Amino acid sequence: MTNHAVVIAGGGPTGLMLAGELALARVDVAIVERRENQDVTGLRSGGLHSRTIEVLDQRGIADRFLSQGQMAQITSFARIRLDISDFPTRHNYGLALWQNHIERILAHWIAELAVPIYRGREVTGFTQDDGGVDIELSDSGSLQAKYLVGCDGGRSLVRKEAGIDFPGWDPSISYLAAEVEMAHEPAWGIRRGEKGIHALGKLEDGKRVGVVLSEPYVGRSDQPTLSDIREALIAVYGTDYGLHNATWISRFTDMARQAASYRDRRVLLAGDAAHVHSPISGQGLNLGVQDAVNLGWKLAQVVNGTSPESLLDTYHAERHPVGARVLRNTMAQTALDRGDERTQTLRETLSDLLKMDEPRKRYAAMMSGLDIHYDIGTGHPLHGRRMPDLDLVTANGPLRVFRLLHDARPILLNLVETGGFDITPWRSRVQLIDAKYDGTWELPVLGVVPAPAAVLIRPDGYVGWVGDPTQPGLADALTAWFGSPAAT
Ligand SMILES: Cc1cc2nc3c(=O)[nH]c(=O)nc-3n(C[C@H](O)[C@H](O)[C@H](O)COP(=O)(O)OP(=O)(O)OC[C@H]3O[C@@H](n4cnc5c(N)ncnc54)[C@H](O)[C@@H]3O)c2cc1C
Repeated sequence: MTNHAVVIAGGGPTGLMLAGELALARVDVAIVERRENQDVTGLRSGGLHSRTIEVLDQRGIADRFLSQGQMAQITSFARIRLDISDFPTRHNYGLALWQNHIERILAHWIAELAVPIYRGREVTGFTQDDGGVDIELSDSGSLQAKYLVGCDGGRSLVRKEAGIDFPGWDPSISYLAAEVEMAHEPAWGIRRGEKGIHALGKLEDGKRVGVVLSEPYVGRSDQPTLSDIREALIAVYGTDYGLHNATWISRFTDMARQAASYRDRRVLLAGDAAHVHSPISGQGLNLGVQDAVNLGWKLAQVVNGTSPESLLDTYHAERHPVGARVLRNTMAQTALDRGDERTQTLRETLSDLLKMDEPRKRYAAMMSGLDIHYDIGTGHPLHGRRMPDLDLVTANGPLRVFRLLHDARPILLNLVETGGFDITPWRSRVQLIDAKYDGTWELPVLGVVPAPAAVLIRPDGYVGWVGDPTQPGLADALTAWFGSPAAT
């Protein structure tokens, strides 16, 4: 039986990102992926939100994505565009980039980090005990690991086998989606139906058409066909535009469900395995990648023996509320998508509201992930929030904060006089950086906040402690996040 410290079931965006995070922390990690290659069929993510781009920037790989996509103001709520160009972030925009490109770039990154992928195989079952997890594969092989992470999508076998509940809401609307060719130029753009939208858009090659059509009924689970698309087109547009040759046809809904727990002992869930919801406003992939970045360093420290298992409980505590909020906002947006006149006036009212600065900022920060606040204590507003990518001045020259996070190691950033902090017992785990920063500290929505003397930055880029050398609490925070002090 082959051993790995961590086995990830599923090499979609979440599994790939998690593998990268674990590999950076020198954890022996492997992915088991059903697909023979990284090709993505069907309509999936169309891009990255600002916070996801920041997270990739923290690892030094944002440029790989930015160079392949289209930077644009893609943030929206209920299809109302929200401009974030005045937000205090280097990435005050989103990136239009299809999921197949996102996965291809992530897969190259983890290949560079030498993560093995067992392709063309599925996880078919597992058993866990105090010592580890025995994982069965579809080729009759097996793997043994200390931890198994289910990144195996919305129908997650890992979630089901672990017996983790998946409560939520049944679908209220069903959509047909397809990539087709049409003999005649269709009516491009979005049209509203009674319960949702219909959309026809030009695809990357400029020839094929991406089709999304809301269905009159919910609950059909058979594989949709070209004649279903034809029928639906005629019902909405009065013509099928000479429809032929579908590359793929699929169906998706607004079902909203979330795992009751993101962990059962040695088994964890991330990405769609932990939460499913309507794709409206494009949050699923972003959520999964950020789950992975929250979990990666914690799991690495537990596997490496630096931190107790209880650190893993903070993964659920921090990420479950973020997922729950996405479920709620997609349900609200689905309701606002209806085509009747009352909903139309509601949308217009909301649109007026979102033109006002404060509501726009709040909703745009929520939808772009820039306002995430982990409930890890009170005090300075930075506590539990994303660390801004400041331009620092150090003894070795200018340095961006995100540059310091490239290898996913924590940082104590000291902005007052050198020598004030003694973190000797944590020196092998935490980088102590003395720097100067004279600019303002501005956070999305909150605005300018008082300049701190020092911040403890976790590998995921969130602030775990704020203070100065005279304040108590640093040793406790270092212990909580990065393990007990080493004997000196
Ligand atoms: C129509 C549509 C539009 C969307 N648009 C957006 C968008 O614009 N923005 C956005 O952020 N998100 C969007 N999403 C959501 C996004 O596609 C998903 O949230 C994202 O793919 C989740 O990534 P994941 O890695 O968690 O799961 P998945 O992408 O589902 O990956 C799971 C992987 O696990 C593999 N697998 C499954 N079972 C097993 C097994 N037993 N053993 C081994 N491997 C297994 C699968 O082959 C797959 O590769 C959209 C989704 C849909 C349907």
